[in-house]
Parts: sequence; structure tokens; C-alpha cells
Amino acid sequence: MDNVRTRFAPSPTGYMHVGGVRTALFAWLVAKQANGKFILRIEDTDTERHTEGSEEHIVQTLKTLGLNYDEGPDIGGNFSPYRQSERLAIYKEWANKLVEKGRAYADPYTPQEVEGFRNKAKEEKKPFLFRDYRPENPPRWDGTQPLRFRCEPKDYSWHDEIIGELSATKEAVDDFILIKSDGYPTYNFAHIVDDYLMQISHIIRAQEFLASIPRYLNLYEAFSIEHPAFATVPFVLGPDGKKKLSKRDGAKDVLEYITEGYLPEALINFMASLGWNDGTTQEIYDISELIAKFKLSDVQKSPAKFDDKRLIWMNGAHIRRLDLDELYKKVEGFWPEASKAYDESYKKKVLTILKDRLKYLSELKSLTGFFFEDLRVKPELISQDKKLDAIDNKQLQEWLLTARQSLEQSDFSLEDITKRLNNLLAQTKQQPAILFSLIRIAITQAPSSPGLFETIEVLGKDRVLKRIDLQIAKL
Ligand code: GLU
Repeated sequence: MDNVRTRFAPSPTGYMHVGGVRTALFAWLVAKQANGKFILRIEDTDTERHTEGSEEHIVQTLKTLGLNYDEGPDIGGNFSPYRQSERLAIYKEWANKLVEKGRAYADPYTPQEVEGFRNKAKEEKKPFLFRDYRPENPPRWDGTQPLRFRCEPKDYSWHDEIIGELSATKEAVDDFILIKSDGYPTYNFAHIVDDYLMQISHIIRAQEFLASIPRYLNLYEAFSIEHPAFATVPFVLGPDGKKKLSKRDGAKDVLEYITEGYLPEALINFMASLGWNDGTTQEIYDISELIAKFKLSDVQKSPAKFDDKRLIWMNGAHIRRLDLDELYKKVEGFWPEASKAYDESYKKKVLTILKDRLKYLSELKSLTGFFFEDLRVKPELISQDKKLDAIDNKQLQEWLLTARQSLEQSDFSLEDITKRLNNLLAQTKQQPAILFSLIRIAITQAPSSPGLFETIEVLGKDRVLKRIDLQIAKL
């Protein structure tokens, strides 16, 4: 398709969860792969839901993830402005076109009266349609009453790039509000005008608008304009697979994941996989592969399920794809305080042996403390280990002493450390789960660590011997 122009059109209401950002990602991918344009439009016409600072939050989220837009409120473009609140005159002009054609009218009813119609329909067990209560002689629209669309009900069928062929009967078409009494347009009206004027080729949006499409089709016809292609993205459900994903399901704001050290490329991969795959078993994609392979027609029709364990797994997989220098740069702000006294080469050694275990970057603090400072001996690490707890302290001391004596003689090459510790197993006739656990606790005072031999090598002889001594003294 020529001139692909997609848009992300969020309402600035604060929180941006993976479901919302996924819609932006799909739209961005469709634009990128066609060398098209991706547009950010802020839909801020619901003054009650608007929250301070949320436009900045949206912009920052997109930029952090690398979902850069070609036109938007802060950078402009050929179709400015990109904030709906700054386009009120445009909506008024388009509303007047409908008034002139006799396709819009001032709604004279009070909200109570409309409520009365609704109740009446309920009593009559009929679906409520405003058009059944259309006023015969509506007043002139002076901008203080809501302006309503005068629909021409009919059956529709249409194509959705994701769902396929859809249809609805004329009961789905009704008179809806175009401009509210506060002078702001509704989403239902404004997006149609904006998508048209901004030459949007594809509307990629969430499922909650699906039922309204027949009304939109009727409005496109009233304006005699073509509609863009529609692509309806299925919901993202919470981990229970029952209801729409929400904060309560532990779905964090996307920027919060970044703060915790999730990689933007992992979040992108994860969001793309919410409801999309290319029909192979591949799970890890980088961004350029996603651009090449993503197809709206491969997006599944059924809802996707949010699973934060999968996100953690994917993040780890992306961490392991980085080379050491790249990873070193990314973890810059995540080291523990005590690491300040250490140089790059030591920290890179730590990273090298830790890389395979790192799930997200903010874990670095808790996982690496012992590489940078001697931690207090924690007797509970031994008492909580069933095997070690069953052995008396004298024996533990003795083993540690033997290990110390052997390591003292070592040249501290990984090879020599490995040989010596393996010999020690033979000599004491103990399993690694006992002997190596004991040594590991002594030198790390942590519940887990990278491989023992590597950890010993990186820590260096002085620290290792000193920590063994400290442990012996405490037993
Ligand atoms: N402003 C709408 C929302 O945030 C956008 C829907 C659309 O993409 O058209 O839900």
C-alpha cells in the first residue's frame, strides 16, 4: 500500500500499560515496514479524565521504547495541531457541514429526559436507540446544546485487517453525540475528522470501539469520505485470563519496567508477542526482525494473556544477547553503592559471570553486593540449609580450614581453583551440595551466587581467605 500513515491516539489519562503501548507498537510496525509515517495524536477532549503530565508521560514512554513518531504535538508536522483540544475550530467547521446537510441536530433534552427514554426502552424490553426519540423540531444549534448526528440506519458489512469480515444490522446505527455541550467533540466524531484530515491509512485500535464501527461507517458516508483500513486489536487479559488487564493484575506502567531494568527491546518483543506470532516457534525477536515479519493478518483474534513470568524470561534472553560492553553500558545506574571503589575491569568480570542469571538490571544491586564489600556473617544461611544444619559446627570449621589451606596455595587461576576444590570433595568424601554450599556461603553471605569457582576467582585470594576466616570464627 502506498503512503501508509498510522497513528497512536491515546487519551492522556496517566498510566500506560503494556496493552495500550502494544497498540502503539503494532501501528508503529505497520508504518515502519512500509516506509510510512507514524503519528502521535493526543485525544484530550474528555476534560474530566485528563490528568496532568500524562502527555509528557506518553511521549517519554514512546521515546524510551524507540517508538519514534514522525508527526506529533511536540514536533509538529503537515497536519498540525496534533492535540485535539487545539482543533476545536476544525470540529466545529465539520459539524456545521453536517448541520447544513441536515445530518446533525441540536439535542434539546436534559440528561434526565434521556434517562427517561432509556428506562422506557428497558420496560418495553427494546434496545435503547436515541433515534426512536428524535425531536421533531429541534432548536437551532447554538453551541450550548449537544449536537447529534442524524443517522441513516442500514445494515453494514466491512473488512477488519485482524478479525476478517464483519457485519452488523441497522440496530447498531444510531444518533450519537458529535459535540458535547461543553463545546468539545466526542471521540466518535473527532477521530473521524482527524483521521481523514491527517490522511491516516490504517486505524489500529483496541477492541472497545468495535461495536461502534457501524455508526462510524454511517458518518463517513454522511461526509462522503472514505474510511481508513480498520484493524481491531484483541484485548490483553490479566493472568487469570478472565478480565481485561489492569493495575491490580500487577501490570505496571511501562516506564516502571524500564526503571526496574527491563530492556526496551525486551518489552517491545514481549508486547509484540501479546497476540502475535509469525507462525513459527521463534519467540525472541529484535526490532528489525519484528519490522520485517509483523503482519496484521497474523495477529490472533482471541484475547492475549499477560504473563509477567514470560516478560522476565524474555528480558533475560535479551540481556544474554548483549555483548559485554553493551551490557556494561546499560547497567551503569544499577550497581550497588559500594561498587564505586572498583574499576571497570573488575566490574566487567562480575558481569561476565553474572550475565546468565540476570533477569532484570535492578537485580544487580542485590546480586552483587558481596563482590564489593564483606558482608556480615549470616548464621541463618547455614541453619536454613537442611544438609548443613545437620552437621556439627566443628566439622564445618574443619572443612573450611582445609579449603582455606588449599586455596592459600593456589595461583588462583580458574583451572587451579577448580582442581583444588574437586580434590577437596574426594578428600572429604562429601557431595558438592554440602561442601561447596558451605564454601559458597562463607565467601558470599548470600542465598545465591554465580558458579562457585568463577566467583572465587573474581573475588581474589585475599578476600576469599579473609571471608573463610570470618566464617570459621563465627561457627
Ligand atoms: N483515544 C482513544 C483511546 O485512548 C483512541 C482510540 C483510537 O486509537 O482511535 O482509547
